[in-house]
Amino acid sequence: MEFRLAGWSLSQWLKETFFPRKLVVCSRSPMEFVIPRERMVTEQLVRRGIRDERVLQAMGKLPRHLFVDEALAGRAYGDYPLPIGERQTISQPYMVAVMSEALELLGHERVLEIGTGSGYQTAILAELCSKVYSVERIKSLADRALRTLDSLGYYNILIRVGDGSLGWRDEAPFDAIVVTAGAPEVPSALVEQLAPKGRLAVPVGDAYGQTLRKGIKEDNGMRWIDLGGCIFVKLIGQQGWSGE
Ligand code: SAM
Repeated sequence: MEFRLAGWSLSQWLKETFFPRKLVVCSRSPMEFVIPRERMVTEQLVRRGIRDERVLQAMGKLPRHLFVDEALAGRAYGDYPLPIGERQTISQPYMVAVMSEALELLGHERVLEIGTGSGYQTAILAELCSKVYSVERIKSLADRALRTLDSLGYYNILIRVGDGSLGWRDEAPFDAIVVTAGAPEVPSALVEQLAPKGRLAVPVGDAYGQTLRKGIKEDNGMRWIDLGGCIFVKLIGQQGWSGE
């Protein structure tokens, strides 16, 4: 027999009493964002060639406005990156889609993300694979992302604070790796931590502009495809840029 208190099962009651979720609150109605989100998918993603149905579905469902400050919620579905504090940004929706599609995820994969930021791309990946390992350099961003993701009920995500240019050696190999900050060169640690046939998406270039590169780990080395120009904040670390 299931014990229920005020409509909650015993296990739910125990969990919420001892480990309560801190809800991410937005005073605006979620309905306000349904049409902007649909428009984002059709006008910014489908029209520009994003074809992966699972990526389109995930981006059509995830409340992006909860990953930015409430004052910016009305602009959350616009065709641009937005500030998230600490001089960092939540990536433009199209970039999130291109990078997610490049990883060719089917659902069973373990994915490493470098640069958690707001946690928005992390949540999209969590919808597309079995487990996401995400590394963020700035603790305050990692903490906020964790709160948002926890409040949305994502339990297949691990976030670590540290230098992601070195990857996450203890959890390697990964089926796919995505870097959401611009690197001067492809970090060799990430290539090493990629499983055979694994996919890596990484912006490579200087501080003013990069090329989004997709690498596939073949038997005889990495095969690279260029996916176009982009502008990301710097990947700062031992295998990235040396300072701000
Ligand atoms: N995908 C994120 C989102 O949807 O909000 C956007 C990430 S933002 C463009 C890039 C992030 O990379 C920043 O939060 C920055 O602090 C982080 N970063 C830069 N260098 C890093 C490093 N070596 N290791 C981990 N994170 C790093």
